[in-house]
Amino acid sequence: MQRYTWQNIGSLSSRSFICGYCGNPLASEKGWYATFVVDNKIHRLIYICHHCEKATFFDEKGIQTPGVTFGNTVSDIPEKDVELLYEEARKCTASGCFTAAVLCCRKLLMHIAVSKKAKTGASFVEYVEYLVSNHYVPPDSKDWVDHIRKKGNEANHEICIMSSDDAKELLSFMEMILKFLYEFPSRIRKKQNLSTTNP
Ligand SMILES: [Zn+2]
Repeated sequence: MQRYTWQNIGSLSSRSFICGYCGNPLASEKGWYATFVVDNKIHRLIYICHHCEKATFFDEKGIQTPGVTFGNTVSDIPEKDVELLYEEARKCTASGCFTAAVLCCRKLLMHIAVSKKAKTGASFVEYVEYLVSNHYVPPDSKDWVDHIRKKGNEANHEICIMSSDDAKELLSFMEMILKFLYEFPSRIRKKQNLSTTNP
């Protein structure tokens, strides 16, 4: 349902992209363009998303702003700090801030450990060990956790810029852990509650 009327909107060549605001894939042909004075060719474009009616900018290299937030939301996370950190890490990827996203994942792992009763004030390595030895990560994922530890240390202690792939692989792992620890147990609890209230 259309709620806004963009003024003086024009027709453009159709472009497929994922909207950085609402996350929907779409093909839009409505918006505006800018030509470059030297060659008079179209270099910059703004497209309107027909789901959320917001504007996305593409520069002369095709870089999209706002970018696409990587990963999916995880429901039923009881600790607000854990939920906020995960969302912050996701937003970093949309802004191209991949080192910040990796550092967020490192901090997220520490918050998850504390939310699972690890003592506060421990080192990052101790928190990782805690999650592994208390089976809060799936049995065969120790290599993954080691990878996060290594990447988190590189981003934190070395002069080292993280890539898009680094951030995305860590975020996909964090999404899996959060679903494993919070969303799936909550989903089954809801089902069980439903079956006891509706025998
Ligand atoms: Zn949208």
